[in-house]
Amino acid sequence: MPSPAIALLLTGHELMTGDTVDTNSAMISRHLLETGILVAEKCTVGDEPDALKKSLLRLSQEYDGVIVNGGLGPTEDDLTASIIGDLCGAPLVENAEALAHVEAWCERRGIQANSANLKQAWLPENADLIPNPIGSAVGFSLSLGNCLVLTTPGVPSELEAMLPTVTTMLVAAVGGSETYIQRIQTFGVGESTIQQWANELGDGWPSSVTLGFRAGLPQLELKLTVAHAEHVPDQKRAYDLLVNRFGDHILGEKDARLAQVVQALLRDQKKTMTTAESCTGGLIASMVTREPGSSAVFEAGLVTYANSAKNQLLGVGENVLNTEGAVSEPVVRQMLLGALERAGADIGVAVSGIAGPDGGTADKPVGTVWIAWGTREDLRTHRAQIPGSRSLFQGLVAAVALDLIRRHLLGLPALPHYFTRQAQ
Ligand code: ATP
Ligand code: MG
Repeated sequence: MPSPAIALLLTGHELMTGDTVDTNSAMISRHLLETGILVAEKCTVGDEPDALKKSLLRLSQEYDGVIVNGGLGPTEDDLTASIIGDLCGAPLVENAEALAHVEAWCERRGIQANSANLKQAWLPENADLIPNPIGSAVGFSLSLGNCLVLTTPGVPSELEAMLPTVTTMLVAAVGGSETYIQRIQTFGVGESTIQQWANELGDGWPSSVTLGFRAGLPQLELKLTVAHAEHVPDQKRAYDLLVNRFGDHILGEKDARLAQVVQALLRDQKKTMTTAESCTGGLIASMVTREPGSSAVFEAGLVTYANSAKNQLLGVGENVLNTEGAVSEPVVRQMLLGALERAGADIGVAVSGIAGPDGGTADKPVGTVWIAWGTREDLRTHRAQIPGSRSLFQGLVAAVALDLIRRHLLGLPALPHYFTRQAQ
């Protein structure tokens, strides 16, 4: 049975001018992928009533379902409800459920609902409401000919919160195919390496399992997709093959993030960590503290950019700074020891490198970084060459630093594949 196909109608002047980059359509497509519903067309239109009507009418004639995004809000340019009402011949009426929602939303903020807020309770007659757990504007669904039209807000966090309901309504209306997707997060191994390995396995790789990738720096997401329930055991077999070959690069399933995994390990092992950062300017500490619950595992991080700061705040010897330079093995070693002692943490990481675009030498070109990681008793260091622009370099160095902590906590090989490959 072919997958059901739907269309997205993305609305908003800001999408046409480039003031807002459309990320919502990717979020919707990604969400629907797991149901087997295919987004066959994405149509983007400004806040222009005739153009919106024309596009929606066409899409409703060509697809079983259309998700309209944006234009649900309280302002004059939010036209979605009136346009769909016009096309469906359904007058806008005050929807009691939507009204209760808007009033409760205003009350929680201690404000009186004004006419703009109340406008959001006017929906086409007979529309089914789609609750919005975050924002004031609810979504709704309504049939336009043989097509189910579902409306969603433009604010990404609100859209995200509503997508589970939208998906359920859509699957009930247009069906879904049996697609089972297992998403696996990895770090430090490239798409081409994994693909080549899978090819080399030949018949060893279960033919019912499609291997897919989504490169989202710094992590690489792998997708194992099977089309029928009977092949789910093959998915498990493919996963085991991956674990056997690339297990130390697997961070976890679904949306697992490096910093989140590190935090969970520290928590399990009842340990705390610290950072001493130069070229990453606090990015490692920021990644760790972005994860909720970090106070239980993160003691303190120091950003020591200047040599004097490395000396005064971390106790790095002036001598060594002068003779070896800031980007050197003894300096990152002393930075880490200084941070571990001052923060009273169990484990840590220190980085010092040349992010560029200036500052490189023949000896230490842009992209050179020295990293020290581990504990007082088991402290390791490594010099790496990390390519890319300044921000790419910083992002990768921070991710590598966290990965090294993860590896240390798990007792994985001291030098990961991405370093040993460089050393060859
Ligand atoms: P509001 O209640 O804020 O008016 P709305 O449903 O009317 O919500 P819009 O006014 O179209 O939605 O957009 C609200 C916000 O969402 C804007 O900041 C806009 O930049 C953002 N936004 C809209 N469409 C998209 C999109 N496709 N991708 C990412 N962000 C978007
Ligand atoms: Mg709006």
